[in-house]
Amino acid sequence: MHRTLNVKSRSKTEFIDITEEVRELIKESGIESGICYIYAPHTTAGITINEGADPSVKRDIIAALNKLVPFEGDYQHMEGNSAAHIKSTLVGASQSVMVEDGKPLLGTWQSIYFCEFDGPRHRRVLVRII
Ligand code: ZN
Repeated sequence: MHRTLNVKSRSKTEFIDITEEVRELIKESGIESGICYIYAPHTTAGITINEGADPSVKRDIIAALNKLVPFEGDYQHMEGNSAAHIKSTLVGASQSVMVEDGKPLLGTWQSIYFCEFDGPRHRRVLVRII
């Protein structure tokens, strides 16, 4: 069975640190050793793992993605949010983290981020620990 995290983004493009929520779900599951699968069921959002210590890292990633995929461009998608769809595909919809001793095996500086590319919105993150 999976758990759902409800995430509320406040900006158009935003990385939201969900590491503590994921850590808590792993603890609640009682699973000591396994895999934690984190999935965003959205077409204009994603999940990534990167540095959580220095906030300028996520700022730089967002700035680079915005430069790589501008909001305005030669897009045909009628909804007008093609940049968000493209960023979602670049980042990917999911991540997996190994679990040992009931904890995610993250590196010292790693955090798990929900990536909003078409906010602000209410979003869901599905988490399954096996
Ligand atoms: Zn769209």
